[in-house]
Amino acid sequence: MEIKKILEKIPLRGSFENVLFWGVLFFCFLAAIASTIFTAIEDLGGLAIAYTALISLYFVILGVVAFATGKNQACYTAMCFAINTFIVPPMFFICGAFDSGMPFYCLTAILVTSLITNFKTRTAMLIYSVILNVGIFFYDWFHPDMSPTLEPLDGIVDQAVSFVFMAILMFTIVSYLLKAYSRERHDKDEVIAKLDFLSSHDPLTGLYNRRSFIEVVRNKVLVSPAGYYLLMFDIDFFKRINDNFSHIFGDQVLASIGKLAQETCSDDGEMAVRYGGEEFILLLRSENYNKAMVKAEIFRNNVSALKFDEQPNVHVNISGGLVDCYNPEFINYDKLLTVADERLYTAKSNGRNQIVGKK
Ligand code: GH3
Ligand code: MG
Ligand code: MG
Repeated sequence: MEIKKILEKIPLRGSFENVLFWGVLFFCFLAAIASTIFTAIEDLGGLAIAYTALISLYFVILGVVAFATGKNQACYTAMCFAINTFIVPPMFFICGAFDSGMPFYCLTAILVTSLITNFKTRTAMLIYSVILNVGIFFYDWFHPDMSPTLEPLDGIVDQAVSFVFMAILMFTIVSYLLKAYSRERHDKDEVIAKLDFLSSHDPLTGLYNRRSFIEVVRNKVLVSPAGYYLLMFDIDFFKRINDNFSHIFGDQVLASIGKLAQETCSDDGEMAVRYGGEEFILLLRSENYNKAMVKAEIFRNNVSALKFDEQPNVHVNISGGLVDCYNPEFINYDKLLTVADERLYTAKSNGRNQIVGKK
């Protein structure tokens, strides 16, 4: 198998569980190899050397099994059980107990155990490990001859090496956890922002939808209506455009008008809305009615001036009703929209391509 394929199976940026498994396995393997070397240098006997070498081999076998079966979580649990049962306790006695660096390994075994994904398995393993570790500490106290006595300097060297290994392991795991957490939070924030946009906007034009508009009218416009003007408009004879030039072209017309509406509503508090079908609303901000009407007329003229590459001879017009929201009669959303709709209807019956309002 090519090296690339093997590396793909050992993910460096895969799911948290996978990265954790391979990371911990790698560190444990390194620690076991280092222990084997130091055990040999300190000349702690053939049994100790053989045992630490066997442990290194165990990690290699575990890696091969996980690689072949893909059952990383099961292998991780098996690894924790082995670390807490067959590896750390015997090594504690073989390698020199409290004289050596073994207490660091005991603590790190607990850290590694606490990262098992399944809560019940994790808790059971934690209780088991704590009881076992406390047990071996007392056993060592009552049977000091169980472990070899290290020369003071050898003991310090062993403790220092073990400490460095375990410090790197702890630091790496916690750093990775924090990074994975912040990455997940960032991804979640992005999804929420996307969902928020989808639920408040119309997909064809990118304008706000009716739902967002109702919210703004109720929470902002009706609460403090001074300076707000509402232009409700509808495309003239739009059905003919669909019938004569296809729905796809009709959609392009809607999108172009939507873009123009968006550009028109550039002031603070303004809002362009696709109210439904080929009906739109511009919520405008203006000092007075006349200026609002000028803005609405400019918009109407801009729509009439729109050119479409696919159909250069097509021109569309709009009819609209303009309403000054600052009116004590507009006690609710329905009342406001009914008046805007009535004026739009008047614009249609007066011959279209115009905006009807009232000072
Ligand atoms: P009027 O001047 O009286 O408004 O005439 P009209 O033809 O524009 O009015 P009518 O309500 O009869 O037709 C509106 C058409 O708008 C009918 C419908 O097929 C079309 N329409 C609504 N939504 C969409 C859309 O998303 N895409 C396209 N292409 N057409 C749409
Ligand atoms: Mg229409
Ligand atoms: Mg219509």
